[in-house]
Amino acid sequence: ARKFFVGGNWKCNGTIKSVESLVDTLNKGEIPGTDVVEVVVSPTAVHIPLVQSSLRKDFAIAAQNAWVKGSGAYTGELSAEILVDLGIPWVILGHSERRALIGESSELIADKSKYCLDKGLGVILCIGESLEEREAGKTFEVCAGQLAPVAAKISDWSKVVIAYEPVWAIGTGKVASPEQAQETHAEIRGWLADKVSADVAASTRIIYGGSVSASNSDTLATAPDIDGFLVGGASLKPDFLKVINSAT
Ligand code: 13P
Repeated sequence: ARKFFVGGNWKCNGTIKSVESLVDTLNKGEIPGTDVVEVVVSPTAVHIPLVQSSLRKDFAIAAQNAWVKGSGAYTGELSAEILVDLGIPWVILGHSERRALIGESSELIADKSKYCLDKGLGVILCIGESLEEREAGKTFEVCAGQLAPVAAKISDWSKVVIAYEPVWAIGTGKVASPEQAQETHAEIRGWLADKVSADVAASTRIIYGGSVSASNSDTLATAPDIDGFLVGGASLKPDFLKVINSAT
């Protein structure tokens, strides 16, 4: 069985004060055990040490990005080596904001995934279509096109979590319906079965992201191929605890 996975992507948000307050809230929350749900939060890189030293130990930390190569002359970047040295177990790669605003290609994201996995990091790999692409009936084609370069480069999927995040649902309040999300999750799982292996398809967590909130996570969580969530806005609020609790 696939263990439910909930990630909180804090994006480019936070002050020392707000981070301390959020950590305090999360630390006081009641959640199911780590046998039921895996929880990861992703603060900005500079807030990570503060969160590492104060956050409950049953939550893990993810970086929001990593460089495609090792440490060296890459001003402004963070290497997998630096993340590993800091004891950070996860990294988010390929978020649609980085694809759209920074221009990261699926090829680059595949290279980053390979590099980070080789260094021992877990990778939360984000994929998803734009509104235009959905309306043109290209949702699955786009997702497959984003997955293919990764599948061409990696062989061990055991530390990969796929985050299906339709761009039109991110930060818009327009959450995908459980039926829409389930349909695409099932197609992604089918693609894994076809292009990678039946074992990888059965064991890889596919989580949903895009306007997940305390009011919709319970229903989304009942869909058979939704194995958790990647949460943006609601992960900065006590609502995140409610989303975590949708695991049961
Ligand atoms: P929102 O939950 O704010 O829509 O953001 C989703 C997201 O991009 C998580 O990575």
